[in-house]
Amino acid sequence: MRVEEKLYTLRYKRDEEPHLRIRDQAQCAKCEQEYGTPQPCISVCPANVYTWDGHKLVLSYENCVECGACRIACPFHNIAWSYPRYGLGMSLRYG
Ligand code: SF4
Ligand code: SF4
Repeated sequence: MRVEEKLYTLRYKRDEEPHLRIRDQAQCAKCEQEYGTPQPCISVCPANVYTWDGHKLVLSYENCVECGACRIACPFHNIAWSYPRYGLGMSLRYG
């Protein structure tokens, strides 16, 4: 089963309060110079949460599947990461 198909088996309850935050966008610009594009967070995220608009990192936190990979992959510990508030975020559609 492809990742896209697996993602379809999830459902999301949007938390209005983002559970992911970039601590310092200037660091992301330096990261782009050092690692190129896509940066590590973009490479590892299975849900396309991160995109680089040429100047800053844009987050679509609503799509996050809460795997935690970006938090580990960011070489600068630049992602403030927490789970969505209770009852919000993603859940399995079946099971
Ligand atoms: Fe920013 Fe970290 Fe992503 Fe690099 S890996 S762009 S520093 S969040
Ligand atoms: Fe992407 Fe996983 Fe990070 Fe969510 S926790 S933004 S799905 S890498």
